[in-house]
Amino acid sequence: TCDIVWLRDDFRLDDQPAIAAVAGRPALFVYIHDQRLQNGRPLGGAAKWRLERSLASLGRRLGERGARLDVVEGEADRILLALAAAAGAERALWSRRYEADAIALDRRVKAALRERGVEAASFNGRLMREPWDLARADGRPAGTFSAFWRRHRGLGPLPAPLAAPTRLVAAPWPAEAPRRTTIEALGLTPMAPDWSGDLAQGETPGEDGARATLARFLDRGLGDYADARDRLAPAATSRLSAALRFGELSPRRPATAVEAATAADPRLAAAADKYLSELGWREFSYALLYAHPDLATRALKAEFEAFPFRDDEPGFRAWARGRTGYPVVDAGMRQLWRTGYMHNRVRMIAASFLIKHLLIDWRRGEAWFWDTLCDADPASNPASWQWVAGSGADAAPYFRIFNPVLQGERFDPDGAYVRRWVPELQRLEASFVHAPWRAPAEALARAGVILGKTYPKPIVDHDAARARALAAFAAIRRA
Ligand code: FAD
Repeated sequence: TCDIVWLRDDFRLDDQPAIAAVAGRPALFVYIHDQRLQNGRPLGGAAKWRLERSLASLGRRLGERGARLDVVEGEADRILLALAAAAGAERALWSRRYEADAIALDRRVKAALRERGVEAASFNGRLMREPWDLARADGRPAGTFSAFWRRHRGLGPLPAPLAAPTRLVAAPWPAEAPRRTTIEALGLTPMAPDWSGDLAQGETPGEDGARATLARFLDRGLGDYADARDRLAPAATSRLSAALRFGELSPRRPATAVEAATAADPRLAAAADKYLSELGWREFSYALLYAHPDLATRALKAEFEAFPFRDDEPGFRAWARGRTGYPVVDAGMRQLWRTGYMHNRVRMIAASFLIKHLLIDWRRGEAWFWDTLCDADPASNPASWQWVAGSGADAAPYFRIFNPVLQGERFDPDGAYVRRWVPELQRLEASFVHAPWRAPAEALARAGVILGKTYPKPIVDHDAARARALAAFAAIRRA
């Protein structure tokens, strides 16, 4: 007899309650590749690439401790039940998920396992706190982030993270069990064409990479975080989002680590608070997803369902390819396409540009990010898009329209970020790099820029676009 640990988006040994529970006992560690588990939403391309590496790393980590990662492809419920029967499993353990489809599936599996005499237990492996422990009396999350976060902090210190077990025991794969496959055979990495070239540049997939990234951030990034997190180049954030997304790192790890750093050096308190509150936004997003399963498809503020979005295919294509003529937007969209990552400030600017300057439905942008971000997250991505659109919980007011030129000048004053991702503007003086159309002809000539040829002219005029967006907003308010 043995236990089964069913792994999903919790690909680590550290602070992994399901794995800690089987330390020293024979167990099967199984990943079942079932696309139905993402709220009916297949993983995007960049996330698949990241998943492959995350699984490979988990396989290595398990191997080092005497265990083995088994990979099966197909319908998770059917496979898990067949595996439990073939193995004569005593217990099946897993970390909880918060997408409605996944919750429904887990409930079915739990009931079916129990009927067959298998103990089934789930744990919190993805969040600092469970959404239901933070809900108001009506079961909903607090309406504003600050109220939500007060509640979160009010629950007291987080439980200490669990150490990774030192010894795991691999149970043999039962002869009658569903057929196993390999990580490579899942076909997660693009082959033809292989566009993944630069994804490896910024990402350090796997638990070891995540721990090293966290250590580096604590050592060099945290002190400056509160002031520098909005700076585009050099970036000053932790770069842990994909690791958190795939559970290579438990959120309790960075949270307790920054708290410990503050205890040792109280001057870090402001930076640590800021950082913790960013982890708090992730928790808020999950609480929203849990309460609103259709977070990615329906505006939380119902009046936004009547918003007069435009069909603008050329506009969408220009945005997605980083050819809007607004350098900071283009730099962000190209960074995203090349590396599967975009700085948070630029995500806000680029998303705002799509929704407000182009009046394109936020759902299209959300879907593009879902496909291209390595950290594409079922909760944080739609919640953030709705926040930018003005339709979400505690959202930015619709009428606050980012000016991409001013944002660029403020957060990328010397243009280093733009120059890195938009090489056509490499030699343009800093005073024009965020608005090349304002540069005198000599400056453009010196920099080798021909607007409309080497780099696009702006596809919309900021002032006109702003007025159009405000008029559209006024229309839904009147309605
Ligand atoms: P840090 O500044 O170091 O923050 C630490 C951690 O806190 C992050 O790793 C992340 O897990 C969390 N976090 C930070 N900001 C937010 C936020 N606003 N909302 C939720 N969690 C946050 N984040 C994702 O993880 N996946 C997404 O799919 C995603 N889509 C986004 C879409 C838009 C339009 C916007 C505006 C933001 C989105 N974010 C998303 C949030 C944020 O941009 C990223 O988490 C952050 O840029 C990741 O970089 P970092 O790890 O260096 O962040």
